[in-house]
Amino acid sequence: MGVLTFCGACGTVTGSLYLLESGRKKILIDCGLYQGLEADKLNFSFPFDPEDIDYVILTHAHLDHSGRLLELVRDGFRGKIFTVQATIELLQIVLEDRLHLEPRIGPKELASDVISRCHPVEYDETFGLPGGIRFRLRDAGHILGSAHLELWCEGQKFAFSGDIGRTGTPIIRDPSPPDEADFLIMESTYGGRRHPPLGRAKRQLKLIIERAQRENARVFIPSFAIGRAQELLYYFNELVESGEIEPLPVILDSPMALKVTRVYARHTELYDEEALEKLARGDRIFSFPLFFSTASSEASRRIEELSPPYVVIAGSGMVTGGRIIDHLKRHLPERNTFVVFVGFQAKGTPGREILHRRPWVKLDHELVENRARIFRIEAFSAHADHRELLSWLDHFDKPPHRIFLTHGEPEARDTLKRDIQKRFRSRVETPSLGRQFVF
Ligand SMILES: [Zn+2]
Repeated sequence: MGVLTFCGACGTVTGSLYLLESGRKKILIDCGLYQGLEADKLNFSFPFDPEDIDYVILTHAHLDHSGRLLELVRDGFRGKIFTVQATIELLQIVLEDRLHLEPRIGPKELASDVISRCHPVEYDETFGLPGGIRFRLRDAGHILGSAHLELWCEGQKFAFSGDIGRTGTPIIRDPSPPDEADFLIMESTYGGRRHPPLGRAKRQLKLIIERAQRENARVFIPSFAIGRAQELLYYFNELVESGEIEPLPVILDSPMALKVTRVYARHTELYDEEALEKLARGDRIFSFPLFFSTASSEASRRIEELSPPYVVIAGSGMVTGGRIIDHLKRHLPERNTFVVFVGFQAKGTPGREILHRRPWVKLDHELVENRARIFRIEAFSAHADHRELLSWLDHFDKPPHRIFLTHGEPEARDTLKRDIQKRFRSRVETPSLGRQFVF
C-alpha cells in the first residue's frame, strides 16, 4: 500500500509539493514556495518532518516548485535531490537570490547545502530507488531543464506534469508527450484560457521597436530572469541579424538574468532544432550588434548616459523590485518612455498599476507620475493554455484512470475538469490541501 498526499498547490498556482509514501520510503515531488496572499502562513511549516524524507524529485527550478528546499534542508532533510543538470545550475541562482532577499531564512551557505544534495539525471533515463521504486524525467518544454515525471511504485504508474510548456517556444524543445499512467497529477494554471499564437510575440516586438526608433523613445521591458529574458534576447538577435530592425542598444540590466542566460548558453544539448541550426551557422543566439549587459550597478547607472532610442530589459517581472524600479522612477513621467509588459502582472503589483495606466504609481515608497506609453505582448507564456493542456493529454496512449488537477485557481481547475471529462473517460478530481490518496 502507498499514500500520496497533496501538500501544496491545491487551488492556487504556487506551492507545488507532493509527498509519496511507499514501504518505508518517503519521497517529495517538488518543494515549492507559496507566493502572494497568505504565503507566509502557508510557507511557515511542513506537514511532515523533513528529517524523515528520503528523496526529492524536482521538476524544474522555478521558486513555486523549488523555493522551500532551503527550509527543507535547514530543518533536517539529509537525503538526495534528483533533477536535470541544467535545473541544478538554475536552482543555485534561484535559491541564492531568495536568500539574498530573505536573509532571515538562514546563512548564505544554505543554498550550497541544497545544491550539494542534488544528483543530476538525464531526460528519459530510468532510475531505480530502493523499495522497487523507479522514475524517469521527460522534457516538459517549460523552461530550460524542466521535466515531467513518470514514477513506478507498488505496481502502479504515476505521472506528475510539473509545469507544461507550449509547443513552439523558442530555444528549448517542445514538451515531450507522455505515454501512459494509471494516475496523473496535472497542472491547470491556464485552464479555460487561450494564449495568442506565439509567432505574434516577435511581430509585436518588432512593431514596438520600430515605433520607438521613429519617436526616439526609451523602451523598458520588465522581465522575469528565467526563460522570458532569454526569449527576448533570442528574438532581438533574430530581428537585428536578419535586418528586420535597425540595430539599437539593447541592455540586459539584471545580474540574475545574466547568470541565467549563461546557463542557457551552456546547455545547448537541450536546444530545439531551430536554435541548434543557428548555432551550427555560427550565430550566437543571445548576442547581436549593440547588445550589452550590465553586471555592476555602476554599469547600470551609466545607461543614463545613452541617448534614446534604446531598450532596457530588467527585473523584476512585475516591477516589485530590482533595477527596473530605478529606471521607471526616472522615466515613467516622460511621454517618450515605452513600457512593454511581456508577462503576467498580479493584482496589487506596481506592474499591474502601470499596465492599467494609473496616473500615479507607487514605486519603492515614492509616488511617480505615469505618462509613459504602455504596451503588452500577451503571446509570451511559458505555460500551455487550455487547448494545449488537452492536447498534451491527448498524447497518452490511453487516458489515465484518475487525474488530479492541481496548480491552478479554482475556476481554471473546474473549467479544465469539465472539458477533460467530456473528452476522456478518466475520473477527474480537484484535491484540496491535505488530501491523501491511498493506492
Ligand atoms: Zn514553472
